[in-house]
Amino acid sequence: MKAVQIVSPGQLKVIDVEKPTIDKVNNVLIRMTAAGICGSDVGIYHGTNAAATYPRIIGHEMVGVVEETGEGAEGLKRGDRVIVNQVTSCGNCYPCSRGRGNVCDHLKVRGVHIDGGYREFIAVPAADCYLLPDSISDQDAVMIEPTTIAIQSCTRAELEKNDMLLLYGAGALGTSILRIARTLCDHIIVADIMDDKLEAAKAAGAEYTINTKTEDFLQKVREYTHGRGPTVSIDAACVSNSLMLLLEATGNAGRVITMGFSTAPVEVNQFLITSKELDVRGSRLQNKMFGCAIEMLKDGTLDLTGSVSHTFPLERAQEAFDFIDSRDPSIRKIVLTFDGN
Ligand code: MN
Repeated sequence: MKAVQIVSPGQLKVIDVEKPTIDKVNNVLIRMTAAGICGSDVGIYHGTNAAATYPRIIGHEMVGVVEETGEGAEGLKRGDRVIVNQVTSCGNCYPCSRGRGNVCDHLKVRGVHIDGGYREFIAVPAADCYLLPDSISDQDAVMIEPTTIAIQSCTRAELEKNDMLLLYGAGALGTSILRIARTLCDHIIVADIMDDKLEAAKAAGAEYTINTKTEDFLQKVREYTHGRGPTVSIDAACVSNSLMLLLEATGNAGRVITMGFSTAPVEVNQFLITSKELDVRGSRLQNKMFGCAIEMLKDGTLDLTGSVSHTFPLERAQEAFDFIDSRDPSIRKIVLTFDGN
């Protein structure tokens, strides 16, 4: 079967590998039908994702159809449409014992530390498969994975109706977070450097927007929060100065959520955190949020239609990654498709 492997940074190859077979652990064989390309996949391709190891079959936004089930694969049958959990955890370590397998001491993420979904078939445990409602297409369904990341950050933030949220960054991550945050909280400020992204954020329910290039960020934040600062800030831009800016902007007793993966040191000061008793919390991947995202789809709280802007067949993955590098403004979500779908 065909697969897309990042051999080493910058080197993408369409390879032929043996079709997986099911066993006791990986007791469901999935025929892939759609796989999203995420910023982190692009990072692995370019060698800027510190977590990735090579060579790697990437792809963690994995949608497919059950082809074969083995012993213990209760609740699944041939022909079921599913999305596959990207997180695998050991179940025995301290974080797992606290129900936090997304930061398992032995965490293995499909498409990052172990092979992922840019291949025609993948064998996984039944517990890692989530049934898709009929109302969503396979291509739109890849967006459930970024949605789970957004739900995780809002959960870590303990976002509530009366919170005043400052969302820093209106790119792909920020857009997903805004979509979820909007269902939880009424007052949202979105900051970015691009006017068109800010306009889209307004249309998606942001109460205020700030262009950090042309406006005085801290002054505007104060103005829009009646002088006190937001109760919650989420960093969806993850640039070098964003943490310090959010520590400055956030009000007393607030929560600041980080999502970046940069290992470059940045300067912050303890006074901001201590004097305001800020909770600075990381949000990584997602912790059992697929069920929640799918429930939101079913009850109509969440609509993911129209997120996909382009599709490429798996064999043309190089073209898809080159197109992403072109930064064409028409790009939203790009999805790899498979023969016959
Ligand atoms: Mn993703």
